[in-house]
Amino acid sequence: MSRFINKKFQELEAYTPGEQPTDMKYIKLNTNESPFPPSQSVLKAISAEEVSKLNLYPDPTGNSLKDALAGLYGVERKNVFISNGSDDILNFFFMAFCNDDEHPVKFPSISYGFYKVYAELYGVKYKTVDLANDFSINIEDYFGNDANVVIANPNAPTGIALSRADVEEIDKANPDRVVLIDEAYVDFGAESSVALTKKYDNLLVVCTYSKSRSMAGARLGFAIGNEGLIADLEKIKYSTNPYNINRLTMLAGIEAIKDNEYYVNNCKTVAENREYTQKKLVELGFEVTPSKANFIFAKSERIDGEELYLKLKARGILVRHFTANAICQYNRITVGTREQMDKLLDVTADILNEKENSK
Ligand code: PMP
Repeated sequence: MSRFINKKFQELEAYTPGEQPTDMKYIKLNTNESPFPPSQSVLKAISAEEVSKLNLYPDPTGNSLKDALAGLYGVERKNVFISNGSDDILNFFFMAFCNDDEHPVKFPSISYGFYKVYAELYGVKYKTVDLANDFSINIEDYFGNDANVVIANPNAPTGIALSRADVEEIDKANPDRVVLIDEAYVDFGAESSVALTKKYDNLLVVCTYSKSRSMAGARLGFAIGNEGLIADLEKIKYSTNPYNINRLTMLAGIEAIKDNEYYVNNCKTVAENREYTQKKLVELGFEVTPSKANFIFAKSERIDGEELYLKLKARGILVRHFTANAICQYNRITVGTREQMDKLLDVTADILNEKENSK
């Protein structure tokens, strides 16, 4: 830290992204990326001709991408906001709608770690709400109309989802607050709440191309909501970074929508691989949460969570381990191809056997 940093940021604890190591080739099951490449239309669209236009700024309105998304989700252009990854939208949400006493925010104590970082970055008054013992969300904890609400659905890192009816209850109970539903993982088996945005002016649904649409490296996120909320986000965007989506990403985003079926099929494969791997892990003595996401959250009495993470890493498989007390026995394992999952299962079984044979 230099002596020049603003005093208010001196104590700020930044978000720690999952490892992206370059020391060796890993089976990467740590950041919930898709194991499948972007679709053919996307690959074709990023041509030398398009690259040669990088001397020109992208369209700051992003209307062609917004129209494509609006068509896919059955909403209007004015209901769509696009951004440089969905993290960017979360950032704008905290900037636009949250502050200290008048506009506090609440979110689950075990959830996506960035919510807390943004709250602290902006000095927002926030409250974390504990999950039940089985890591489920008790929706009544979010009633009260006393704070904005942020919920990842499915939640991360547990993968447990709320139904659309539950989201509606939460939304209805907070008519004077903004309810943000982060649907980063919704396409792998949970119910989307996008349809509710037509009925409620306080609901913002945030989505990403990073998971189900195989484009984590392109950085593209979008939000769907009432026109007023979207206009507020636009105001923040035009006050920070108007060209927030680069030309190639914009193009890739439009093309991906044309190949929607490819992505829907990939999600189906991932969901099947998730069920398969969970069943095998349970046979190995693991406990898993009922995940609807593209990751598994698992722990075993047979091995300490961190020990398993380190031993898998030493053998070329990267999973995500969190150090917070309530979840330190667990690992979050991204669901990959069937081959990757079989490798994970084989290596895990070896690690457990070696550990038990050395006693
Ligand atoms: N929300 C949740 C719950 C996530 O896990 C992630 C991925 N780290 C994001 C949002 C952000 O994704 P991206 O910025 O790649 O769209």
